[in-house]
Amino acid sequence: MRLLLVEDDTQLGDGLRAVLRQEGYAVDWAKDGEEAELALKVESYDIVLLDLGLPIKSGLEILDGLRAEGSDVPVLVLTARDTTLDRVEGLDKGADDYMVKPFDMDELCARIRSILRRAHGRAVPTLTHGTLEVDVAGRCVVLDGQQVELSGKEFAVLHQLLENQGRVLSKSRLEDGIYDWDSELESNAVEVYVHHLRRKLGKDLIRTIRGVGYVIDKG
Ligand code: CA
Repeated sequence: MRLLLVEDDTQLGDGLRAVLRQEGYAVDWAKDGEEAELALKVESYDIVLLDLGLPIKSGLEILDGLRAEGSDVPVLVLTARDTTLDRVEGLDKGADDYMVKPFDMDELCARIRSILRRAHGRAVPTLTHGTLEVDVAGRCVVLDGQQVELSGKEFAVLHQLLENQGRVLSKSRLEDGIYDWDSELESNAVEVYVHHLRRKLGKDLIRTIRGVGYVIDKG
């Protein structure tokens, strides 16, 4: 899952990025309104964490622009302003949720997961496919009642495919979900992770669509 963090406070941004990466997200960090708009034009994100008070362009302006263009990317607004008016304005402009600083990191992560679940039309926190169960919050994978150990990136690839069951995801789409601007792309990385996942979870779970990408069929 790829996330855009829009935050001009360096200390908070640093902390947030570290926590979110630990949670397995690829995190791009934009530090002003212009950088955020550019990022939103060139990359595709699963969710945006948007501070409201930003240099150059405010968070509300960015949100306005996004929705005016018809983008339905989920947006979680982060702000220091705790007035009902700001909150109402943010939600009216199309934010999906709202957190007032200072906030608890665990709560933030839980809200992100909940927004991503809703974005995929899913009410329950567990992804399943046959006898495979994936607890996204606990990052726990169980196959036939046995826990399976996956690396962070293996988990990220599996999560994306399971969240999009029945849809073929291209190699570059999968890469976008595991590498942010600052990470070094390893060649053939997606192939390698898919190979590991097949070894650990069975060779039939992930199908290769030659020349297109990979898919987990609807379970
Ligand atoms: Ca700010």
